[in-house]
Amino acid sequence: MDESVPQAAEIWERIKSYLRAEIGDDAFETWISGLKIETAEGGTVRLSARTKFVRDWIQRHYMDRIHELWAREDKSILAVEIVADLSAIKIRVPMAAKDHVGTADSPVVADRALQASLDPRFTFDSFVVGKSNELAYAAARRVAETGEVPFNPLFLHGGVGLGKTHLMHAIAHEVKRRRAGVKVVYMSAEKFMFQFISALRYKDTVAFKRQFRSVDLLMIDDVQFIANKNSTQEEFFHTFNALVDNRRQVVVSSDRSPTDLKGIEERIISRLGWGLVADIHPTDFELRFGILQSKCEQYPDVSFPEEVLELLARRITSNVRELEGGLNRIAAYATFMGRAVSRDMAQDVLQDVLRANDRKVTISEIQRQVVDYYNLRLSELLSARRSQNIARPRQVAMYLAKQLTSRSLPEIGRKFGGRDHTTVMHAVRKVEDLRRMDSVLDEDVKRIRRILEA
Ligand code: ADP
Ligand code: MG
Repeated sequence: MDESVPQAAEIWERIKSYLRAEIGDDAFETWISGLKIETAEGGTVRLSARTKFVRDWIQRHYMDRIHELWAREDKSILAVEIVADLSAIKIRVPMAAKDHVGTADSPVVADRALQASLDPRFTFDSFVVGKSNELAYAAARRVAETGEVPFNPLFLHGGVGLGKTHLMHAIAHEVKRRRAGVKVVYMSAEKFMFQFISALRYKDTVAFKRQFRSVDLLMIDDVQFIANKNSTQEEFFHTFNALVDNRRQVVVSSDRSPTDLKGIEERIISRLGWGLVADIHPTDFELRFGILQSKCEQYPDVSFPEEVLELLARRITSNVRELEGGLNRIAAYATFMGRAVSRDMAQDVLQDVLRANDRKVTISEIQRQVVDYYNLRLSELLSARRSQNIARPRQVAMYLAKQLTSRSLPEIGRKFGGRDHTTVMHAVRKVEDLRRMDSVLDEDVKRIRRILEA
């Protein structure tokens, strides 16, 4: 191992956490978690995979993204390559997945772990309900609780990290708890494909089909993954139809609605939309705060001041996974370093996350908010008029443009009716001074800023 490997290892850990957030736990475990760093030298990182199959898969589906992330972390990296580490191949005992649906008459498929394991933490109890997810939650509960098939399929969709997988696992837990003996299969669409391709390779598609068709509740996560994968789509469609025809419940999730699914056959899309389509909207502040409050309970020994939860809920808006990640990091830091949780500490520990979540504000948004706030017209703000009641808001807007965007002074000047950069500079200094002396103006600036960053 050469010297730069330890540093590369650190970067790789970070990249892996980004990837996990992007592609979900299941795909991550299937493809990424087993990759190792072989060497990192001369601007090239070499990763190794356990098999050629995984190597090719990574090459085709993930390499561009890995390269991109790596280049972002370390500018000196020009190439990332992947090899199959054949020495690593040994006889592997099939993973004993907890929720196996293997039956005696299909030993081959069963041995390859048909079912992805379920996260015990993802239950209905631990799911916090708000306006944005109440429909999806209610529908999921309904599926889990009634012995009948209320709607088929249940189609859950929503952005990354908003709780689709959580709800599916919750359904599985609940069904198993209420109705022992019911066959439940949960897996990602990616894994479905992987299994299907393996079945093709080992020429046991008959067993594969039989395996799925004896299921009472089938849940396929991230179904968008089968877009443009024609034979997998076909197989999925047949499985789906066979189950629905036999009045078995199917639940699918996707990062977009059926109508927005591209690269999936029309007849499949239309069929997917037949049941109940429940979307999960982005979280609002209230829900994020509620989620944090509930997750805090995992750390009885750490006390989180309310203002810290508020900071997180306000600033980490992209998805719940990141929100949780932020909380976990603070908790870990507090525990290991023996420090009390405070706003400063949180800001310190989460610097990178907070920065990444900073919304990109544009100059026109700033102008719109300022105009709104001071009850002016945009034309007035951009005009040459110099009366205080217009000039001051204009200076505030220029100041905010400097603070909140990465635009240069001349660029800002141009957007404000073609003013000179010295005018902008003057405005920035003026507002800086005024904020120190004039608490009303200072409060105004803070308020507008909060609106812009909400
Ligand atoms: P998705 O599958 O939509 O990408 P996940 O279900 O994996 O998102 O959720 C990401 C993380 O956020 C999980 O740890 C999950 O428990 C958590 N999470 C998401 N929504 C909620 C919620 N409403 N209440 C509690 N935890 C949530
Ligand atoms: Mg998911």
